Amino acid sequence: MRAAGGVSGPPVPSNGAGELLQLLRDGRPRTRAELAKLTGLARSTVGQRVDALLATGLLGPVGEAASTGGRPPVRFAFNPQARVVVGADIGATHGHVALTDLLGRPLCEIAEPITITDGPAPVLDWLATTIERLLTQSGRDRTDLVGIGIGLPGPVEHSTGRPMQPPIMPGWDRYDVPHHLATALQLDTGPSAGSATGPVPVLVDNDVNIMALGEHAAAHPHVQHLLFVKVATGIGAGIISGGRLHRGAVGAAGDLGHVAAPGHAQVLCRCGNTGCLEAVAGGPAITASLHAHGITAISNEDIVQLVRSGSIPTAHAVRQAGRTIGEVLATCVSLLNPSVIVIGGSLAGAGESLIAGVREVVYGRSLPLATSDLQIVPATTGRQAGVIGAATMVTQHVLTADRIDHAIATQSMSHAASATA
Ligand SMILES: [Zn+2]
Repeated sequence: MRAAGGVSGPPVPSNGAGELLQLLRDGRPRTRAELAKLTGLARSTVGQRVDALLATGLLGPVGEAASTGGRPPVRFAFNPQARVVVGADIGATHGHVALTDLLGRPLCEIAEPITITDGPAPVLDWLATTIERLLTQSGRDRTDLVGIGIGLPGPVEHSTGRPMQPPIMPGWDRYDVPHHLATALQLDTGPSAGSATGPVPVLVDNDVNIMALGEHAAAHPHVQHLLFVKVATGIGAGIISGGRLHRGAVGAAGDLGHVAAPGHAQVLCRCGNTGCLEAVAGGPAITASLHAHGITAISNEDIVQLVRSGSIPTAHAVRQAGRTIGEVLATCVSLLNPSVIVIGGSLAGAGESLIAGVREVVYGRSLPLATSDLQIVPATTGRQAGVIGAATMVTQHVLTADRIDHAIATQSMSHAASATA
């Protein structure tokens, strides 16, 4: 199966219904007359397209519009409950899976400890079982599922869904993640699958890109240029440019963890290089510096708890890490000119200490024009960023105009075939 790219099967002519749905995805109910006025199309054409969308369930009637007399006209709106999506956030030691609606809003969730180093087969079998459990829990049928989105803690070739030389995932290099899940769940991935949006794609990306998509969709949907920075044991960024995720030539865009932090050439990094940003400002670097002050912190959660309980040396160390991250981000601001930088990841819970350090350096180092409109804010989606982002990746993929048109065409062809059988 193909994880991404063009619609499979023979090309079908656009029937225009998919384009009409894009207009309605803002959630506002509209009458046929309002849609005709908005699109400049004939009433009869709008009527046909509305009927085609009603048949898929993606559009539904809601209430009645005010009428000047006679039978009141019906309003129609996008129905996000019509289908469900799976968003999965797989970390080194945790698995978090949510069943969401078509707006990426979680309907039910399961979070359990997993071990990524067990290798792909046990972890993906756990994921398949968890998806079955969520479908049963929510009472949704397998045919309601339009796609599965997965975030993994390493580099991923998004077009094939295969991890590429992931440093903390032994056994996963180039593993065909979509194929494993499609087989385990017996997904109908062909062009004539029963679902109203066609085949059920399995899309995979790295965890930071997924979190950037989730935070963008949930908190900054109208922002065109956004940089999401994950600060945890490692440090990485997801880049939204022109409203879309920017992955780069081989999916490595935003890998800030191993960019050189100025003035730290002596610090050895796990990648074998020296002076890398995450070796200087990541969670383990902060716990090591606290150790020198006689403060015991083992995990990132310990650091966050210490800051919250008022430990001044910890707040100081976190703020210093923020400054170091800010040095690298000042360069990113000059290069990308984002209007929002979101700071997320498990150390973002340390709140103002981290962000204050980032702001101090970014605003101080960047040219006024680049920062005149720049906000540096904490992430709002917290632990849900990954699952919301993974589901958003799927809805952006399956609800495009050409995929909706293709699904409507194949559905009517299969209806015609079963009628003549
Ligand atoms: Zn490094």
